[in-house]
Amino acid sequence: MARTPVIAGNWKMHKTVAEAVALAQAVKDGAAGAAHCQVVLAPPYTALYPVAGILRDSRVILAAQNVHWEPGGAFTGEISLPMLEAIGCRMVIIGHSERRQYFGETDATVNRRVRAVLDSDLQPIVCIGETLEEREAGRHYDVVTQQLDGGLDGLTRRSLLRIILAYEPVWAIGTGRTASPETAQEMHAFIRSRLSERFGEGAREVRILYGGSVKPANIAALMRQPDIDGALVGGACLEADSFLGIIHYNA
Ligand code: PEP
Repeated sequence: MARTPVIAGNWKMHKTVAEAVALAQAVKDGAAGAAHCQVVLAPPYTALYPVAGILRDSRVILAAQNVHWEPGGAFTGEISLPMLEAIGCRMVIIGHSERRQYFGETDATVNRRVRAVLDSDLQPIVCIGETLEEREAGRHYDVVTQQLDGGLDGLTRRSLLRIILAYEPVWAIGTGRTASPETAQEMHAFIRSRLSERFGEGAREVRILYGGSVKPANIAALMRQPDIDGALVGGACLEADSFLGIIHYNA
């Protein structure tokens, strides 16, 4: 089965509701003809509901940036899967390196979230990737293996097919320093082979996105790599023109 590319924008802690509505509308309009890929927007929590209204009846998919594994309860500051489902969210980013770095996310908590998401109607976009220090120490394959094994622990072959992975080398996030297409491809191929060791054939169907300073100028070369199935975009998704330039990489 062909792997439909995914171009996802992570708005992080940016955009008021008014700004979010304007950006979502512009992306929706500009992406209307983009049948070659799935376009995903991940606004901050306050903007999810109004953006859901903009995206209704469009091909653009709404995602959240994180979710708690419990369905509800006394967890001040958290958001649950039923809350996201109820407003039409279809995907959720899990284990972004900023969550790991600043908010104590570990492979174990990633795994709890991933399992909960797989029990819901949403699809997880699971982020993995090494730091500069780890790469320079030659530990990048070990680190990514550990994140994959821990984050996807206990998953069945069938549930693997609902997962989207995002390889985001931490040294390339927000730094303007993109991994070369060849460096990214090497890691993507490694991830796919690790998945096939653990889960078999189905690994060929899993979409693996690249993230780290993706821009209109570098997306096409990344997308030409055989194991790169899309992009998770930070900075360049905050303006409609640059995000649409990435979405239309094949123009
Ligand atoms: C990200 O945070 O997921 C990301 C890839 O950011 P940027 O595109 O700004 O490097």
